[in-house]
Amino acid sequence: MAIERIDVDLCDGCWVCIESCPADVLRMAQVGEAWETAGWKAVIAYPQECHGCKLCVVDCHVDAITVSQRVPLPKPFQPHVGLIFYEPRAT
Ligand code: SF4
Ligand code: SF4
Repeated sequence: MAIERIDVDLCDGCWVCIESCPADVLRMAQVGEAWETAGWKAVIAYPQECHGCKLCVVDCHVDAITVSQRVPLPKPFQPHVGLIFYEPRAT
């Protein structure tokens, strides 16, 4: 089991999954077609670190995250030029 995708249309950028993940897989990023319309979203930054615990799935209040048997792992999120890729908040 491993993380497959995060639905950016459902994600409201609440940060919960970032703090739930014990394996440091996820990051927040400004995602969108243009800077003016980009919004905060959770993204898969280090898919190879995922061990499929599903804590992120359980904690996401909008069911935006899919964890499955999918192989191969998704490619890490690549920020577009001009968008900002943030590290998670310190806990
Ligand atoms: S928990 Fe769900 S809504 Fe919140 S940032 Fe993660 S994917 Fe987005
Ligand atoms: S399934 Fe577990 S390890 Fe994988 S991204 Fe979600 S919380 Fe992190």
